[in-house]
Amino acid sequence: MLIVMHKDATPLQVARVCETIKAMGFSPHTIPGAQRVAIGITGNKGAVDTGRLEGLAGVLNVIPVTQPYKLASRETKPEDTVVDVKGVKIGGGSIAIIAGPCAVETARRTMTIARAVQRSGATIMRGGAFKPRTSPYAFQGLGETGLKILKKVRRATGLPVVSEALDTDNFNLVESYVDIVQIGARNMQNYSLLKKAGKSSKPVMLKRGISSTIHEFLLAAEYIVSEGNYQVILCERGIRTFSDHTRYTLDISSIPELKRITHLPVIVDPSHAAGKRDIVIPLAKAAIAAGADGVMVEVHDRPEEALSDGPQSLTLGMFREMVRELKAIIRAQPRRRRRPGS
Ligand code: PEP
Ligand code: MN
Repeated sequence: MLIVMHKDATPLQVARVCETIKAMGFSPHTIPGAQRVAIGITGNKGAVDTGRLEGLAGVLNVIPVTQPYKLASRETKPEDTVVDVKGVKIGGGSIAIIAGPCAVETARRTMTIARAVQRSGATIMRGGAFKPRTSPYAFQGLGETGLKILKKVRRATGLPVVSEALDTDNFNLVESYVDIVQIGARNMQNYSLLKKAGKSSKPVMLKRGISSTIHEFLLAAEYIVSEGNYQVILCERGIRTFSDHTRYTLDISSIPELKRITHLPVIVDPSHAAGKRDIVIPLAKAAIAAGADGVMVEVHDRPEEALSDGPQSLTLGMFREMVRELKAIIRAQPRRRRRPGS
């Protein structure tokens, strides 16, 4: 259920509606819009007595929300959510170019990569400090040391940084260092982690689980949004199919579908989908052409020496070329002639 307030409804009228919703035993969620305020209602199992709400001062309309992901749905908030990461915008026509190594390895190497990708047009730096590895014997990341390196890189370059929180235990630590907290594909249905992310004041990048439907993906996002954090970026990163020539199968069709159903920005990670660097650029181009709000790619100055995901990491030269090609696609899309990140 969604309450749409009059354009000129006062803050007091909005507060009265919220109080009434609480008195009915439900939770109100105020959603400020460009034109007017809307108030989402969650917590109801069945029908809500709309008569009681329709009569309140300032209420324009009470409409049912048909989707189970009520707050993440475009029905509730028709205009795009724009996530602002220290002045770098994602969504609403602004394209994010996120780049960096799979894992933070050394301070020197991370700084070299950051400066190079920044020169080529990256707007946000990525790098894992806590790595979810399939094998317990593989490099697990530098932990807090890695986060400290990312902080130094941000100070030196001004690039906002994104890194993954693996569990509820290290969430606060990661959150205290980074500008965007990443929740990885393996954790998309870690509901206690999602709830924790929902209470964070930092933007969250939620990656699609490898065998998750769009429905499940959006309900995972709903866990975060329903706790009060609307700064959620969805990341399509490929799903597992019978196709075995790539690491995963990039679900390009999910991009226009997600953009239709939700107001949250959608970015694409072609690196983990591909598993090999040769097809990362074509997949990134396909993602932007299909309407993605940005891409996140793994880049390394010497991929052959990378401690994780070297085969799918772009070289610095390939990254430069990718940005050049993506800009041409962005310019060719009349709906959104915007510069990356602006
Ligand atoms: C990553 O982006 O570092 C990562 C581990 O990706 P995913 O969770 O999509 O596998
Ligand atoms: Mn990786």
